[in-house]
Amino acid sequence: MIEQPYWAVVPAAGVGSRMRADRPKQYLSIGGRTVLEHTLTALADCPRIRALVVVISPEDPYWSGLSLNLDKPLLVTSGGQERADSVLNGLEALPPEATAEDWVLVHDAARPCLRQEDLQRLFAPPHDEGAILAVPAKDTKKLAGADGRIEQTLDRSRMWQALTPQMFRLGLLKKALRSARKRSLAVTDEASAMEFAGYRPDLVEGHADNIKITRPEDLALAEFYLHQQGRL
Ligand code: C5P
Repeated sequence: MIEQPYWAVVPAAGVGSRMRADRPKQYLSIGGRTVLEHTLTALADCPRIRALVVVISPEDPYWSGLSLNLDKPLLVTSGGQERADSVLNGLEALPPEATAEDWVLVHDAARPCLRQEDLQRLFAPPHDEGAILAVPAKDTKKLAGADGRIEQTLDRSRMWQALTPQMFRLGLLKKALRSARKRSLAVTDEASAMEFAGYRPDLVEGHADNIKITRPEDLALAEFYLHQQGRL
């Protein structure tokens, strides 16, 4: 039996202003390689992923300086205004043999510590309406009012923190993202576009070390995790 292909899209067209660095966070270095190289390598190392698309900013001066050595096809396309626009561009840049029924994984460029083990958990069927990696909320969550004061304490026992990869059928995800854009809905991850379209993706518990590099201190933490995983 031929295994159904999985495709990966990596949005990497953000600026990452919270890092206060001289370049976008995906181009900061950890152990001599950029965050983006670590991320792309983690996905390319997964045997079930057939090809990757990386989405970069049209004004990106750093991409051409990388010397990637992946044993998978890697396509490059331009990003858009918002993350969801970049992801849609990435989906549209997948090779023509990618069908609407195929699974696509969307993974943040700024999450270099993704483990193969978590990818395997995500692949485990059935996920009719897609699935995302996530971790149960650890801290108590507060909802803030416009004045910055606590409005409400949320029920932590049902709260999860959404990570990536997020995995959906290519056709459904494209449709959901296009529809959200048309309705001007705020989409901060792919699952939210699917939710707006009426789907209920599965939450798959992943490791909490799959952090998104966002603040300066995250870089040292990611280095520690990569070391721990034997990847540095
Ligand atoms: O800004 P944030 O950390 O939420 O971005 C998540 C991911 O989306 C990053 O990998 C970033 O490069 C990407 N992104 C993008 N296009 C945008 C904004 C963010 O590809 N317009």
